[in-house]
Amino acid sequence: MSTMVGSISNEDQIEAMALPEEMDPKPSGSRAYDNLENFVDGSYRQIDTDANKDRRAWIKSELEMMGYDVEEQSFTTIECSDCMNIVATLPGKRDDSWIVVGAHHDAICYSPPPLIGVTYPTCRSQGAYDDGTGVANLLELANVMMEWGHVPEHTWKFGFWDYEEWQGSSASEGGGMGSLHFVNSVPEGTDVATYINLDMFGLNWPLSPPNLPTCSEDHFTLYLYASPVDDWSYYTDRELEVTDHMREDAERLQSQLKEILHQQLDYPTEWVKVIDDTKGNSDHYNFIQGGYASVWIRGMHEYIHEEGDTCEQTIKHSQADNLPTLRTYAGGVDELKQGFQTALDALALFAWWDMNVSHGLGPTTYSEGTEAGHWEFGWLWYFALLLIAVPALLISRPGTPLELRDDGFADAELLD
Ligand SMILES: [Zn+2]
Repeated sequence: MSTMVGSISNEDQIEAMALPEEMDPKPSGSRAYDNLENFVDGSYRQIDTDANKDRRAWIKSELEMMGYDVEEQSFTTIECSDCMNIVATLPGKRDDSWIVVGAHHDAICYSPPPLIGVTYPTCRSQGAYDDGTGVANLLELANVMMEWGHVPEHTWKFGFWDYEEWQGSSASEGGGMGSLHFVNSVPEGTDVATYINLDMFGLNWPLSPPNLPTCSEDHFTLYLYASPVDDWSYYTDRELEVTDHMREDAERLQSQLKEILHQQLDYPTEWVKVIDDTKGNSDHYNFIQGGYASVWIRGMHEYIHEEGDTCEQTIKHSQADNLPTLRTYAGGVDELKQGFQTALDALALFAWWDMNVSHGLGPTTYSEGTEAGHWEFGWLWYFALLLIAVPALLISRPGTPLELRDDGFADAELLD
């Protein structure tokens, strides 16, 4: 596939992709890699450990050095006596409508399937892929958004969740506790317009899988598991009442992502896929159950075989989830950075549009010559929808936030 736009052999074309010239600074996969190196630090960040506390304090200090107000969001559960989300805020013109981007800072080590979540005393995982990659890239997004110096339309929240990982087959509860705590803490009268989940990426297009006997794919795929447009069954099976607003918002988000990825950035649809989320096995689950349009951006994974897949090895939750393995899988440090860059550019463009919609530099500017008409309509529709639907949503959202979910993930063994 060496002729493909943006392949590794064609770095100039990656550089040339359509991030606006005025975007300064542009996001850097290289800075994200430095963050990853500093964050991982050889430690095992299981909940309630000194390493977990040390690393979340590091995240907080990094955000404060960028100039953010940072909240320590403490919570406890049966299994965790000292859990803490780290949440930084970039105030927007609207304080009652948020865009939230999240990654989990905890890590876990246990046996992989077919044994399900069996822990053992010497099992330690650096969680470099799961989810050091999400933390590192989220820090880079927060960095460039602060540097831009614009006031976004929405208020942006950068959430670094604790206790995403299921604690294994002997645990009394599921995972996803940090993001659940956050969703339950969203103030009454406040909407989350979009949640973007970063959990395991970097091992994705334009990288090729390692040359292992079981692999025949040309590239790792970047998956964007979004609020469903067609198949809501995973969520309705878990008692979500899907409203018209949720359906319209899901369609809006999927179109917006496809516009950014495939029209603006020209990413190939065969390697960067926006698809319905039908598994719910990361923190975006809690946001979708809360009624909020969400997407999980993720690279190479396992046990979700799709047509043509033969390469589904994983390193998550294992001793091998460390930086050297990540570099090996990616084919080198530079390649790993290229993988980060793919998702970072998409994230930055999503953020840039929200920064600039009120500066006369909205998305239609960047759609000229492609589908400008569509997007003029799309964005008017989007904001009109927010104005009309937010009050309706508040009325129609079932239950109080605290009743949202108290049993963690239903399929904890599938948690990423
Ligand atoms: Zn994860």
